Amino acid sequence: MYKKDFPFFKNSSVVYLDNAATTQKPKEVVDKVVDYYTNFCSNTHRSNHGGANKATKEFEATRDTLKDFINAPQSKQIIFTKGVTESLNMIASTFAKEFETIIISSLEHHSNITPWHMQGRTLHKGLEVVNVKDNLEFDFEHFEELLKNNPNSFVSITHVSNAFGVIHDIKKIAQLTHKYNSYLLVDAAQSLAHFEVDVQDLDVDFYAMSSHKTFGPTGVGALYIKENLLEKLPVYQTGGATINDVSFERSIMLDAPYKYEAGTQNIAGVIGFKKALDYLNKITLKEVYKLEHELCTYLYTQLKKVENIILYNDTKNSTGSRSFNIKNLNSEDIGILLDKMHIAVRAGHHCAQPIMKKLNIDGTIRVSIAFYNTKEDIDIFIKGLKKAILMLK
Ligand code: PLP
Repeated sequence: MYKKDFPFFKNSSVVYLDNAATTQKPKEVVDKVVDYYTNFCSNTHRSNHGGANKATKEFEATRDTLKDFINAPQSKQIIFTKGVTESLNMIASTFAKEFETIIISSLEHHSNITPWHMQGRTLHKGLEVVNVKDNLEFDFEHFEELLKNNPNSFVSITHVSNAFGVIHDIKKIAQLTHKYNSYLLVDAAQSLAHFEVDVQDLDVDFYAMSSHKTFGPTGVGALYIKENLLEKLPVYQTGGATINDVSFERSIMLDAPYKYEAGTQNIAGVIGFKKALDYLNKITLKEVYKLEHELCTYLYTQLKKVENIILYNDTKNSTGSRSFNIKNLNSEDIGILLDKMHIAVRAGHHCAQPIMKKLNIDGTIRVSIAFYNTKEDIDIFIKGLKKAILMLK
């Protein structure tokens, strides 16, 4: 029903089930990017002519829309970055650097592991990892033990696992984090597109979002910063657009959010991102969640019927990503055969090698759905999967 809104599906017959890698973009987003480059391509926050003023106005309108989208108190608490990876690196190399211990979960994407390694932190030497239970659920007892034993810690945890779709109870994680006077950064790469988020209710300190995972352009992300941390967060990069007054003796920075946005931003991308948020607001995230939940339950029931399947978690507390293996078959071989049948999934370690190692597997096949997918997509995929299995036997 919604595929008609996405130019990709008009031009391609691919059954696209790789939405956790990136999502397709509605026509409004594509049109807005073209509109910017065609009709008012100018820099923001600098010149004072018609095109520049329009670019600045639309750029700032995205900030306001995102503020409402996540129920942040003020627009200045949203800063634009290149994506979740840049936001995580920013916090790792500024605010979080001073903490003795960083606590992450077992289900992190490499983007929330390698920035800590770059600081020389390794397991039990400045980096602690919360265990997962057999069903991949977060182990709260272990988390509390880590917080208790590491009084000077900073917590950085994903909202949703990209490899398995498991949703972490961020509200509960935030409560425990603050009970021990620690701070919480959340990787929201896989949550924003799937269910309603209220940063005040969750009580997170930092929330790192990605436009391209949320039906917007690539190369754009946003970081929400809790108000009391706005003045405490050191500037990551500086240069044009961050400065109020400069002499050769000193630089006086602008206030937030501008002091955190050095250099020319991805203006077309940011402006396009607003259209993705407007589109989601029109459908509503309640509807998105409902559609995805129905599809995911159907997918799970169909997968369970496949012979020799190993499923890693059920649909409870998960979004639209389902990961599995077929006994004695290589996940990447299956992925290649599905691609030949024009079915796009991701096979491999999903940039989450540590959890794959923990589970003693090389990787999985990940089917990740979005609200525009249909039961028919899932039927085609299941048929293709069965065919691939027969070919590899
Ligand atoms: N974190 C998670 C959980 C992800 O799934 C991804 C992308 O796959 C990232 C971080 C990186 O996000 P971005 O592409 O916005 O840098």
